[in-house]
Amino acid sequence: MKGLWFTERQNPGLEISCLTKKTLHWEKTDYQELAVIDTETFGRMLLLDGVIQTTIEDEFVYHEMISMVALNTHPNPEKVLVIGGGDGGTIREIAKHPKVKEAVLVEIDGQVVETAKKYLPEISVGLDNPKVRVIIDDGIKHVQDNENTYDVIIVDSTDPVGPAVGLFSGEFYRQIHKALTPDGIFVAQTESPFFNKDLIKGIQKDLADIFAINKLILANVPTYPGGLWTFSLGSKKYDPEKVERESIAELDTKYYSRDVHFSALVLPPFVKELMP
Ligand code: SAM
Repeated sequence: MKGLWFTERQNPGLEISCLTKKTLHWEKTDYQELAVIDTETFGRMLLLDGVIQTTIEDEFVYHEMISMVALNTHPNPEKVLVIGGGDGGTIREIAKHPKVKEAVLVEIDGQVVETAKKYLPEISVGLDNPKVRVIIDDGIKHVQDNENTYDVIIVDSTDPVGPAVGLFSGEFYRQIHKALTPDGIFVAQTESPFFNKDLIKGIQKDLADIFAINKLILANVPTYPGGLWTFSLGSKKYDPEKVERESIAELDTKYYSRDVHFSALVLPPFVKELMP
């Protein structure tokens, strides 16, 4: 398809359309429909079940913000787990951090990893980093099988449908709490503060029950519904708002910075209302 419009129905009353240049890949995997297309405005784009996952133009916002706030809040994030995130963008950011010694990626669909390696080298580059280990398995099972293991756990999942449903439950967050070390930090992508209010409220309530500290991080991802996106953070000990500015690693990032670390935690009143 060239010169055609790709349209994602983001919710029953909202669609986003992007002018396409070329379809590079399409397949039905064991878990989902997987496609890579070239678009005029956002460059190369990864789709799962017709839903935009990541694009070359805006991927840095999501991948930096899902990882850097937690990595710079923990004083020693040596061992990090990513659940989902088979495109490799989150792992690429984690591998940049000088204090990280080992980063494990548990992705349920091996085809996402293989396709990202072939068509999205800018994003998947971190998958070949010597600090990184890729496991093809269900993230829920991996978390159940590992106790007191990870300093930081990041859930970089698809929307709460199909194999990702269990990644948004209070039961899963309790397992995450056990899989973390005694001062560990958890972060997950938790959708739009405009269109997923009940989901975010429920997650924040669960995190407040399970963790000593719960926060919401905001960032702008133009290809996601509504643009403004949330990441939920649960921490056993360290508060991201109390981090010493000078301790934040200054890395090669395009959205995250020392200032953005703190500003992303400032919530407008309509978002504050979602907090318990
Ligand atoms: N940044 C993206 C977004 O919010 O649209 C998510 C990117 S990443 C491609 C999401 C990945 O989560 C998918 O590749 C999917 O296969 C994986 N996934 C879904 N459920 C999973 C599970 N239970 N265990 C491990 N990976 C899972």
